[in-house]
Amino acid sequence: MNNGALVLFSGGQDSATCLAWALDRFEHVETLGFDYRQRHAVELTCRDALRAGMASPRLGMDHTLDLGILGEVSETALTRDAEIALREDGLPNTFVPGRNLIFFTFAAALAYRRGLKHIVGGMCETDYSGYPDCRDDTIKALQAAINLGMNSRLVLHTPLMWLDKAATWRLAEQLGGAALVELIRTESHSCYKGDRTSLHPWGYGCGACPACDLRAAGWRAYCDAP
Ligand code: ZN
Repeated sequence: MNNGALVLFSGGQDSATCLAWALDRFEHVETLGFDYRQRHAVELTCRDALRAGMASPRLGMDHTLDLGILGEVSETALTRDAEIALREDGLPNTFVPGRNLIFFTFAAALAYRRGLKHIVGGMCETDYSGYPDCRDDTIKALQAAINLGMNSRLVLHTPLMWLDKAATWRLAEQLGGAALVELIRTESHSCYKGDRTSLHPWGYGCGACPACDLRAAGWRAYCDAP
């Protein structure tokens, strides 16, 4: 299907915005979540509420793939019960080596099988968090490698690549108005600690981890200059 898309959909703010973007642009949209034994599967449970909030005739199947093996081969604060900190080389210890390469490769295999031409991911270079597999060059190289290796013409889209977090909120507002902003604010999840006990102006979270810091700062910037 030339106008079909598969969205990498974790249940976070970025992937929720990507889903809205894809629903606006493509006639048929399916979603894909990965379970790789994250310390907190809370993002995965947010996916259903976000999909329900964006229900549309265009929204098709939801897929989940078990990538538990990723947790077995990587030693990170996302998959182990460790404190989140910066490593000696400056990368956060939440870094799962090659994660997005693996995600996109599995997504491409699924998109190939489902006949979907477009794959959408929320990778972003602007709020550069130290993940080299979020870089635009990485994604472009991967698109070339996937299409060579699968003899396909898949297109990898990263609509948030050059947006900061405030601009990502603005994009959600453009796509779905205040209702979509509110859905993403209350139902998407970013916190590394999986904390959903208290609702802050920017959403649920512990309010202290790097992911909460980034989300809170982005929300403030969005509210200051909507
Ligand atoms: Zn947090």
